[in-house]
Amino acid sequence: MLKITTTAITKIIRITRMTQTKIVKQRALKAKTNRVNKPKQNKEPKPITKAARVRNTRNLITKQGRGIIPKEHPAFNQFYELIQRYPYKETKIGAGIHTIEIIKNNRSGADNIMKINRTDETSVSFHWNETTWNKNHLRLLTEAMRHSIERSSSKNYKKQQKKLICCFCNNDKLSKNQYHVDHKTIPFSHIRDAYLKEYEYESIRSFIPVSFNNPEGYTTFIKEISDLKKKTSGFEKDWIWYHDELYNHPEDYQILCASCNSIKGNK
Ligand SMILES: [Zn+2]
Repeated sequence: MLKITTTAITKIIRITRMTQTKIVKQRALKAKTNRVNKPKQNKEPKPITKAARVRNTRNLITKQGRGIIPKEHPAFNQFYELIQRYPYKETKIGAGIHTIEIIKNNRSGADNIMKINRTDETSVSFHWNETTWNKNHLRLLTEAMRHSIERSSSKNYKKQQKKLICCFCNNDKLSKNQYHVDHKTIPFSHIRDAYLKEYEYESIRSFIPVSFNNPEGYTTFIKEISDLKKKTSGFEKDWIWYHDELYNHPEDYQILCASCNSIKGNK
């Protein structure tokens, strides 16, 4: 009696197992039939940084060389996209782009600039270096003025330091050009404004530079070309003289890192 029962139970279990296997197999087959082959997801490429874009444009310009780039040219679209990114593109595009041209920058000699030749036969120069796009004139002028001083009077003070360390954040791990010489008591903006005041007269206001160079990511004055030689512009020369004559006081100098200096400078 007991034996029969055991066999019966084993039988039931076996059937159940078989049924289970069957169900599993059936489900698997169904899933296989219904499987939708998802297209392989391409990972979104990382957006490239502004610095990398500037590098690419510089390389593109070097590769193309000077000359006209018509719409049919393979590089045209890359230049076109660059113009599309410009926040005030309408002012440059005007009636429409006919061709793009790479020309010599007459104000700096070695540099190339872009020119947009419009459909209505007018043309306009275009600054391809997008790191300068969002800066207003005073900001660019300030950066160039700072850079001139960095290369003259401040350079000596920096050289005299045994170790470069930021007085505000104590950072001593940066590269040499990331440290600026700052005036402890006189804000740079005051010295700048005092000098610019000298240019307040209508007749000489036009000598304040309006366009700048940006060779390696820092703003500089454009050299003047005279007698086929590149020379420091009168504005820059006078500015260095002015600063050194009135404000070159090493006892008032301190070392700041670039970021602490820009935070201080904006106050
Ligand atoms: Zn700092």
